[in-house]
Amino acid sequence: MMKSLERFLATFYCAAWLVCVATLFFSASLALAQNEPVHVIAFGAHPDDCDLGAGGIAAKYAILGHKVKFVSLTNGDVGHQSQHGEELAKRRLAEAQEAGRRVNIEYEVLDNHDGKLLPTLEVREQVIREIRQWKADIVIAPRPNDYHPDHRYTGVLVQDASYMVIVPYLVPDVPPLTRNPVFLYYSDRFTRPQPFRADIVVSIDDVLEKKINMLDAHVSQFYEWLPWTEGLLGQVPHDLAERKKWLAKWPSAARTLQPEWRAALEKRYGAQAATIQHAEAFEITEYGHQPSEEEIRALFPFFPPNPSR
Ligand SMILES: [Zn+2]
Repeated sequence: MMKSLERFLATFYCAAWLVCVATLFFSASLALAQNEPVHVIAFGAHPDDCDLGAGGIAAKYAILGHKVKFVSLTNGDVGHQSQHGEELAKRRLAEAQEAGRRVNIEYEVLDNHDGKLLPTLEVREQVIREIRQWKADIVIAPRPNDYHPDHRYTGVLVQDASYMVIVPYLVPDVPPLTRNPVFLYYSDRFTRPQPFRADIVVSIDDVLEKKINMLDAHVSQFYEWLPWTEGLLGQVPHDLAERKKWLAKWPSAARTLQPEWRAALEKRYGAQAATIQHAEAFEITEYGHQPSEEEIRALFPFFPPNPSR
């Protein structure tokens, strides 16, 4: 009896010691992470998608010295009413690079055809390479429910890359990540099979002008193609400053605060949330690392430390 009690106590102390060591190690690695730049990579199907969903936080990260890369999985070569093919792809690449330059982030456009994106092994491996080469802490992509097939498959491709980014013998030409990043979805308005859930909401009021300036670089999209698809081409002002003001009024560009985002906003901004008008919201996917609240605050260094209620 005595012996088994001793054995139990020995096991208990050993387990407790291991928990202490693990806690210390984890705290140390988190502290280290806080002093290093956060590496964020965002994927879109077309060379303006990332900008709409995460252009605001990209500007905020860049201002603080963190590293952001936007990747378009297609070259956008059918996204226009009167231009197409190589000519349009070249124009959109230049627009994307200018957009990236305006907020000081990297922007890559992969040479896959627009409107023809499929969740193939080849593109999945392109995504895995991108995430590994960027040494991503955060990966952002659309949800796999969307009106556009390229958006849907971008969601599937990034989802299929999550976890595989740590598997050494898959895509062995690029070293694997040692830890699965946090994978996020951009916000969207689709409700089936389930609506978007706002887990992390970041105010972009302070960088709204920068975000609109970034979108303004995609002339072929925001002043030509998208207004044409909506029958609004006649409303686009000719004056460059006026058309930028016109663009700033688009709810999808300015990311006007949605009522469903308020709880997550208040959780991290406290009383300050009442004054916030524009925000970008993200859902944490189930397939990547599940961050603790402490890790969320380290990875999103935008929230007040002690929000007043
Ligand atoms: Zn798109």
